[in-house]
Amino acid sequence: RNVPTIALNNGVTMPQLGFGVWQVPDDEVAAAISTALEAGYRSFDTAAAYGNEEGTGRALAASGLPREELFVTTKLRSSEQGYDAALRALDASLDRLGLDQLDLYLVHWPPEADAYEETWRAFEKIYADGRARAIGVSNFQPTHLNRLIDLGGTVPAVNQIELHPWLQQSVPRAFQSDHGIVTEAWSPLGQGGGLLKEPKLAELAERHGRTVAQIVLRWSLQLGNVVIPKSVTPARIRENIGVFDFELSAEDMAAIGALNTDTRLGANPDSVN
Ligand code: NAD
Repeated sequence: RNVPTIALNNGVTMPQLGFGVWQVPDDEVAAAISTALEAGYRSFDTAAAYGNEEGTGRALAASGLPREELFVTTKLRSSEQGYDAALRALDASLDRLGLDQLDLYLVHWPPEADAYEETWRAFEKIYADGRARAIGVSNFQPTHLNRLIDLGGTVPAVNQIELHPWLQQSVPRAFQSDHGIVTEAWSPLGQGGGLLKEPKLAELAERHGRTVAQIVLRWSLQLGNVVIPKSVTPARIRENIGVFDFELSAEDMAAIGALNTDTRLGANPDSVN
């Protein structure tokens, strides 16, 4: 499969579609990743908090693919914010993944006020030392991003946020685009729940001869987002990457645009910090 890439603000390129492994147990993740690799996925999104970095690393090593063909993201868990703690956490993540360099390291959730500068300074060191090819954040609102940008250092390459047709995030997307920050959509399928039963989406799926999941992923890709759908079901893993051979019209995009209800399925970053 030919997955297009997106250029980050430092010139590193990232596949526009990857494979998310949240809630996949460590002893099951290798099987899912092997299926994904066969289907053509090359980008993988894990986190220290997911407890499956070891299985992820084993599966990637077993693939025998050259390291430079893979794009590996992991995230700093919130309890490890701060300068020294973040550096130690990176060591531990690399160790579990069996890698000496990440492609992308993300701050998983906005830190408490005091930790912004300390954690981001650690991330800048990690980047300067070549232990991550790019650094970014996750679950940052524009206010959080402004705090970070005001430090005057490295602008995050990516902000990974909840984003699907029920939570379209138009304000954060515009802010991020203005600042050259790539928007990466988590739970792009709305976690496989009621979103996929929307009659409007079923109608579009029928018309395009696609599944609802494919329509939803295609919509997000056409907005310019990176998407990281998750599945452990081989047929769905293959289905979710089969979204680069059709196109939604401006009218289709607008019809999906009208489904926004600002409904969050995950935590609200404003109530985290
Ligand atoms: P998702 O939106 O990718 O939905 C996954 C679920 O949808 C599956 O468990 C399955 O039930 C269903 N599904 C998958 N493919 C389908 C298909 N083709 N047809 C029908 N149903 C299908 O949900 P997610 O796992 O929450 O999000 C994806 C990834 O985003 C995660 O695995 C993780 O890597 C990342 N994520 C990050 C954060 C964060 O805080 N940064 C939070 C949540 C998720």
